[in-house]
Amino acid sequence: MANKEQENAGMEFTMSRRKFLGLSAAGLGGVVAAGAGFEKLQAYAASYGSDVKTTIQNGEVHSLCEMCVWRCGLIAKVREGKIVKLEGNPHHPHSRGKLCPRGQAGLGQTYDPDRLKWPLIRTGKRGEGKFKKVTWGEALDYTAQRMLDIKKRYGAHSIIFSTTHNLIQQQFENLLWAFGSPNYGTQRGLCFNSMITANKLTYGFDEPGRDYKNTSYIIYAGRNLFEAISNSETQDLVEALSKGVKVVVLDPRFSKTAARATEWLPVRPGTDLAFFLAMIHEIVRNDLYDKEFVSKYTVGFEELEQEIRDYTPEWAERQCEIPAETIRRIAREFAIASPRAFAHPNWRTSNFINSFQTERAIAVLNAIIGNWEKTGGQCPLEGEEGGVELGTIPQPPYPRIRALRLDGVPWKYPTVPLKLGIFQNLRDAILSGKPYQAHGWFIYRQNPLSSISDRRKTLQALAKLDFIAVTDILMNDTAYYADVVFPEATYLERYDPLAQVEGSVYLRQPVIEPLFESKPGLWIFKELGIRLGLKDYFNYADEEDYIRAQLKPLPITLEELKETGHYRPPQEEEEKAEQPPVFQTASGKIEISSSVLEKLGHNPVPHWEEAPRPEENQFYLLTGKVAVHTQFSTQNNQLLHDLFPTNPVWIHPLAAEKYGIEDGDEVFVESRVGRVKTHAMVTEGIRPDCLFMVPGFGHISKGLRTAFNQGVSDSDLHETITDPISGSQALSQTFAKIYKA
Ligand code: SF4
Repeated sequence: MANKEQENAGMEFTMSRRKFLGLSAAGLGGVVAAGAGFEKLQAYAASYGSDVKTTIQNGEVHSLCEMCVWRCGLIAKVREGKIVKLEGNPHHPHSRGKLCPRGQAGLGQTYDPDRLKWPLIRTGKRGEGKFKKVTWGEALDYTAQRMLDIKKRYGAHSIIFSTTHNLIQQQFENLLWAFGSPNYGTQRGLCFNSMITANKLTYGFDEPGRDYKNTSYIIYAGRNLFEAISNSETQDLVEALSKGVKVVVLDPRFSKTAARATEWLPVRPGTDLAFFLAMIHEIVRNDLYDKEFVSKYTVGFEELEQEIRDYTPEWAERQCEIPAETIRRIAREFAIASPRAFAHPNWRTSNFINSFQTERAIAVLNAIIGNWEKTGGQCPLEGEEGGVELGTIPQPPYPRIRALRLDGVPWKYPTVPLKLGIFQNLRDAILSGKPYQAHGWFIYRQNPLSSISDRRKTLQALAKLDFIAVTDILMNDTAYYADVVFPEATYLERYDPLAQVEGSVYLRQPVIEPLFESKPGLWIFKELGIRLGLKDYFNYADEEDYIRAQLKPLPITLEELKETGHYRPPQEEEEKAEQPPVFQTASGKIEISSSVLEKLGHNPVPHWEEAPRPEENQFYLLTGKVAVHTQFSTQNNQLLHDLFPTNPVWIHPLAAEKYGIEDGDEVFVESRVGRVKTHAMVTEGIRPDCLFMVPGFGHISKGLRTAFNQGVSDSDLHETITDPISGSQALSQTFAKIYKA
């Protein structure tokens, strides 16, 4: 098999950069169109009645974007009472005056013709799409009654609460802990648990920051910043490239980031670990590491030296199919560039069964070149917490929760942080009924039917539950299967709790009043809390009252904050003496050898773990973002849909020829858990042993009239494979066949 794959690797990637950029021109053109789609945005705004109330008739409102989790500062332009344009706030560090295409198209979400308009209660069978319009009072009373019935019969722990990463997360958790359930799900387990767990065990915190301004060498392996846009970091990379910084990208696909990098290495999927272990080997063997830093600030270097003895570049070449000489050269370049160099911890690297080891190897590679808190190296990540101390609202302590968590954290997965959890395990626990049966699911701004792998299983799990409540802006796929659906106000229509970035306080505030009968999350949780007998946990009159309480310790009023959207506290002038770095690990040092892993009986240093390889006639099935969509919630946005309406499967010409497939042909893609029919996109921008699909398509809710049945869902194909140490879902470990339909 190895020979077969080497053969595949031998299918030369002869495509020129110019040729690929030509192939992807449609996508880039689209981004430009989003920026120039002013007239279309105006038409959207105009299509809503004159009864829509804005905070101002003409002018600008400063707020925060929520088209992804990056929360850029925005300025909403209002003309004659309608929002007509969204621009980046130059004073916000995440936007620096620019919004990405998704952010610019935020109006398409607020003015989506498919917005949920009022609360709904299901009348037909689950998934039949039959609901009746009810009042908020009816929907909330009904939900509270069903939740209290379940609590009485089976205990509070038998209701799962899940949400995304958002500004109101603290109030969502308030509802969960006050109700008394330990079962909390976020999407992190589907995203980058292995990255965070590895960094926590190595450095003692979630993710390091990076000094792009002063760096001279960057290595990415599974971070595609030109498509999976994190606005400010993407801008940092653009600037670094313009200054001539060397950028190396490991990716089985010729992504837009690879296209702009100095060097693209089409690594065999799941073997980045071998590349990084061989880099460590080269740097250590040739004494290119920072001896002083290693001896002062790390523990476990001797064990590492032993472990990496056999991880030579020649060995790595057999695994990752990157020539040994290239690995050797990059290791040397990286070490010479240090400490103005970093290997990025990445996100997509989290998608293999050995990704925890890959992330550990990256963390250790950075540690041994001594780039911590050095110009151009790594640094503590700007925290959202910290900064100024905000006011809180008094409330009673939470009830004691004794039940085990259904996702197995920490009793089965002791290294997984509680706040991350393992989302896919919640679904599987509903199906197995172990360690106990769940009966209800309260879902806030999430769409598990699209996000969790193996959709058939998720449908079975939903069918097993007594009660499902979903809060969203649109009738997402999971809402379509719910018993109650609450319509939430969009981020342009509501307040959220305050955000803190780089020591400043930022406000999300309504630009227009909520359309139809939609309501803000702060209102929904409070009203539901009151009906659940938890009134004392929601001691605020309304959203403004909540924010006033947060602002109480600060010398600024809500009215003043509304003007500029942010408050910057006076900066301390005094020069702080340089402090030695502190790491929140058991040893207080960077743990090259992890004391936690050792205690749990795992190999404490990064080591090679072979990930399974596809069989003959199977391909690695890869997924990844595009610039105009978030993973699951933008496909119905008409502005974005126009730019990127569907998701064909990418296949290399050599593989296409082998299977008699031509560009545009209808094909079946089939894995062990499902099969989808889609179109082939034949491109040299992918390795011959891989297929690639953009996620988030193939919606099954008929309430999404734009996105329904457009493209196919990767969740129909992905198997559920969970890394036992970090709880990460190994999405890219699914192998698939392809054949003509
Ligand atoms: Fe909005 Fe784009 Fe910023 Fe995300 S990165 S918050 S979508 S502008």
